[in-house]
Amino acid sequence: MTAKVAVVTGGASGIGRAIVHSLAASGVLVAVADLDADGAAETTATSPDRMRGYTVDISEPESVRRLRADVTADLGTPTILVNAAGWDRMGSFVDADEEFARKITAVNYLGPVFMCQEFLPGMITAGGGRIVNVASDAGRVGSSGETIYAGAKGGVIALTKSVAREVARSEITVNCVCPGPTDTPLFQSFDPKLKAALTKAIPFRRIAQPEEVAAAVAFFASDAASYITGQVLSVSGGLTMAG
Ligand code: NAD
Repeated sequence: MTAKVAVVTGGASGIGRAIVHSLAASGVLVAVADLDADGAAETTATSPDRMRGYTVDISEPESVRRLRADVTADLGTPTILVNAAGWDRMGSFVDADEEFARKITAVNYLGPVFMCQEFLPGMITAGGGRIVNVASDAGRVGSSGETIYAGAKGGVIALTKSVAREVARSEITVNCVCPGPTDTPLFQSFDPKLKAALTKAIPFRRIAQPEEVAAAVAFFASDAASYITGQVLSVSGGLTMAG
């Protein structure tokens, strides 16, 4: 039997890297797609026979088109897409300049839009597929200090549900995982006081490990999740259970 092919954006670091490892361990061939070529090479070095690195800027449609053509030529048609790449920087909403607003929206919202548009036709032709978007609990319940990011991630949640409706008849599922604070370079870049306050607010009193988020993504990407679509799963140690 030929192995399934997956594309994981953000696979050079943090949650994306843990997702790559989890999918590869289940026998999937994984395209590690990231802006950071060195980080992608570090990820693939752990299991070069099951992973291949690709450089992409998900906010640029032409770059996404090249990625699809290259991955398809090298590994075959991907039937699993995980949109895990993202970018965030804390700061005041009213002081955020236009360039920042455009960049944060382009990476966190338009990136998943362009990736879904580019990879869906192959899944439709293949007769099925799985898309898992990594949004954020900030997009479910809001978050002060990261307002534009939260808006973009809220957009990813609505995108997930809408695309799920559009492609269900092609046996393609589209689901969304919303991490809470997770131990990655992104979270570690935040102010220490904020990190401590967030950790204290989590019922488990600890932040997530990337592998704990990856496990939820791997479930949605698996055959076992064949009848689940348009769903939003929070992986946040109970932080936002009331949200
Ligand atoms: P990370 O910074 O460790 O990894 C993000 C990866 O995305 C990096 O490898 C980066 O190079 C890549 N990337 C950024 N912009 C890109 C672009 N334009 N094109 C291609 N790749 C790009 O971050 P992480 O914490 O692992 O975050 C993974 C996802 O989880 C993100 O979508 C993030 O918003 C989300 N998230 C993270 C947390 C957290 O606490 N870590 C919480 C909620 C949601």
